[in-house]
Amino acid sequence: MIVDYKPAIQSSMSTSIMSFSCRLLIPWIKHGTLHKSFTGHLGRSSARGYYNTGQAGPGGTSGVRVVDLRSDTVTQPGPAMRRAVAEAEVGDDVMGEDPTVNDLQKSAAALFGMEAALFVPSGTMSNLIAVMVHCPARGDEIIVGDLSHLHIYEQGGSAQLAGVHSATVTTLPDGTFDLNQLELKIRRGYPDPHYPRSRLVCVENTHNVQGGRVLPLAFLQEVRAVADRHGLSVHMDGARVMNAAVALGVSPSTILQHTHTVSVCLSKGLGAPVGTLLAGPRDFVSRALRCRKALGGGMRQAGVLAAAGKFALTHLVQRLEEDHHNAQTFARALLQCDPGLFAVDAAAVETNILRFCLPEPGLGPSEFCARMARVCEGEEAALGQGVRVLMCPHFGNSVRAVWHLGVSSEDTQLAIGKMEFVASQYLKEKHE
Ligand SMILES: *Cc1c(COP(=O)(O)O)cnc(C)c1O
Repeated sequence: MIVDYKPAIQSSMSTSIMSFSCRLLIPWIKHGTLHKSFTGHLGRSSARGYYNTGQAGPGGTSGVRVVDLRSDTVTQPGPAMRRAVAEAEVGDDVMGEDPTVNDLQKSAAALFGMEAALFVPSGTMSNLIAVMVHCPARGDEIIVGDLSHLHIYEQGGSAQLAGVHSATVTTLPDGTFDLNQLELKIRRGYPDPHYPRSRLVCVENTHNVQGGRVLPLAFLQEVRAVADRHGLSVHMDGARVMNAAVALGVSPSTILQHTHTVSVCLSKGLGAPVGTLLAGPRDFVSRALRCRKALGGGMRQAGVLAAAGKFALTHLVQRLEEDHHNAQTFARALLQCDPGLFAVDAAAVETNILRFCLPEPGLGPSEFCARMARVCEGEEAALGQGVRVLMCPHFGNSVRAVWHLGVSSEDTQLAIGKMEFVASQYLKEKHE
């Protein structure tokens, strides 16, 4: 295996990029404003407030190790991936002439067990295209989990750009939803003019907001059976479906046999800088190609991007296991550290996303994250070096941390050391 997941250089990117996990401000969104403890943190921000920690970014002072657990989107392409990009053969992909894009699409289709695949700029555009193709008429309806990325974090694109209505089912803690509720949400009235027409059921695997949960194959099979019974299609937002495949120890096509179409991000844990693959039946993909162009997603010499994606799919899938392992290691360390300070369900940590709670009122998520992110007094002496660990407050009084190819097992140990240091400092202050 080619080892290509050490960042080439310690990044010194701008301070304002915060992982999308930090957009998980559900209680705040619900109440229409940002909660005070957050505005204190995010207050200086611009229009991009939700992304802005107000903290220094991942670039560190020299000698200080930065462990960036904000998201698996912060990965840097390593030397071998950059070489693949540099050497990519390219052509005009809008004319269908980019050999590297064509090759990526073909191998992705085979990997996913689909007839065809399309390379698109982002996961958001990919999901939108899927909705547009599955729901060709204005007033068509999708059924989607109320905590799904498609429903919360894509700006309501289905409604605002595709003219498609959403019915929601309640997302359960394991990322699934109740099948009886699904059945109840399916409209039976068509063509009665009172109702939208149900067209599509969307599932998300792994489930982002619910902490990287892997959808059970039996659940997918049942969703498909319900959809088939009512003539609906099933689309999987599989931004992290490769994590699910690795966690289950199956091929992605085993998972995707239960869905008509899938969207797979190359720019999350797989480490490519840009790109998503949208796959499905051949006629779906030809319609998707038309939508992609209308949305401005037709790219010309896109082979330079596809080459990174191909490299990721070829060389960086198996290593996702390390991310899952590191997330588990950190979860266990939290439990061992001080059960009063941290609450975590280790069994729910199935892939690269960890969510944990801080029941102690004096050390809430923002305070904990702030302490983890700065080099504290006495830390160098205790840990041998300064360590800044970046993670994000999440809804429900929790913190979210995401592992990826920029975080090694040594980094994870450093992060654990820092967490224990922060915990002991806090307890010391409390008892003073
Ligand atoms: C990141 C993500 C997307 C969107 O991908 P972008 O490339 O950021 O637009 C969609 N769904 C899920 C579950 C994601 O995690």
